Amino acid sequence: MSDLTIFEELESSVRYYCRQTPNLFATAQGAKVWDADGNEFIDFLAGCGSLNLGHNHPAIKRALISYLEQDGIGNALDFHTRAKRDFMEAFRDVILRPRKLPYVLQFTGPTGTNCVEVALKLARKATGRRSIAAFTNAFHGMSMGAMAATGSSKARRRLPGSTDGVVRLPFDGYHGAGLAELNRFAEMVLDPSGGIEPIAAIIVETVQGEGGLNVASEAWLRRLRQIATDIGALLIVDDIQAGCGRTGDFFSFERAGIVPDIVCLSKSISGAGLPMALLLALPQFDVWCPGEHNGTFRGNNLAFVTAAAAIDLWRDGSLAADITANSAALKAWLADTARTFAELIERRRGLGMMVGLQFRNPAVAKNVADQARADRLLIETCGPYDEVIKIFPPLNIELDLLEEGLERLHRAIVSEHKKNAFASRAA
Ligand SMILES: *Cc1c(COP(=O)(O)O)cnc(C)c1O
Repeated sequence: MSDLTIFEELESSVRYYCRQTPNLFATAQGAKVWDADGNEFIDFLAGCGSLNLGHNHPAIKRALISYLEQDGIGNALDFHTRAKRDFMEAFRDVILRPRKLPYVLQFTGPTGTNCVEVALKLARKATGRRSIAAFTNAFHGMSMGAMAATGSSKARRRLPGSTDGVVRLPFDGYHGAGLAELNRFAEMVLDPSGGIEPIAAIIVETVQGEGGLNVASEAWLRRLRQIATDIGALLIVDDIQAGCGRTGDFFSFERAGIVPDIVCLSKSISGAGLPMALLLALPQFDVWCPGEHNGTFRGNNLAFVTAAAAIDLWRDGSLAADITANSAALKAWLADTARTFAELIERRRGLGMMVGLQFRNPAVAKNVADQARADRLLIETCGPYDEVIKIFPPLNIELDLLEEGLERLHRAIVSEHKKNAFASRAA
């Protein structure tokens, strides 16, 4: 076994994933990851959605190696560079223009949470208002502003005042909530005695990733778009996890036919797990003065090179076809598994390739995840009680590898099922 003592000795108690899967990882290709002892894992975590195209995608890796060999510039602040120009042209031609989206691009600090901070700051500046409306079970990041918009109390244990400035609304389907709750909120905002401060922005994930794979309906999203306009607030779609192809289209909001005022992208935008974040804003809201939101690492040109290569994969429709095929396979497996193990599983959740199984008992979900990990599957749980097993493979995972990963998960569920059946017979 590999020596892991340095992590115990020197690393902060904040470390998390490595406690669930303590292996010493070394190499990775596509949806396979190897530890230093030669164990092969199937990756159903994909760097929490930062590796939608898998590890070391051949075309992306080649682009990066060739760039380094030519002594391409590494960090360039926000200077014009060839790598940045090539990315912007590809993003315009392949992503924005075919969808008739008129956004300007802002390269923020290279994390999702920084992109969300920028979105909130920009909305406050553009509207001259302070309050942000955010939803139950939302996750927007861990810096103070983004965390305030986050629903989960796990994110801010013992941090008093950490939701200041945020009005919380029920997400679509939250304890039965729907359009009526949105309408009531709008009425309260527009009523001079409604008691709600003017809203600068409404921030939403169209499919909540960390919050349990909750899918907002198209009608609900369209109503939300209308309400934001009616109350003079900016609609921010946080597409950091659900974007970059995860739900089928490049953007997760395309299915609803809406155009948000601001979109946050990060996680998989670089296509290689390199740090990068991108804010899209309608031009009328791009009200910054030069340098008003700075950041040293806004010019990670290595990420721009890999991001351009990743966008190239959207040109010919083959990636989109992979996503469609894998999504269909996942949907069939989830429906079948939820039916077979109905006494353990409440329902299947999610959309496209951000899907999962909601267990009736969080302890069972934890045992299933632990057993699957012992069977060399990288996987995590989500939801308010960690009761949802989250299935998040690379979008382009080979079908046989996807099936092998699902088989490992199936084995873990069967073993929990047997334990349960035994316990109820004994009782
Ligand atoms: C991961 C995530 C963030 C935060 O991104 P970081 O890079 O971890 O700061 C924000 N919003 C959503 C929806 C996310 O999934």
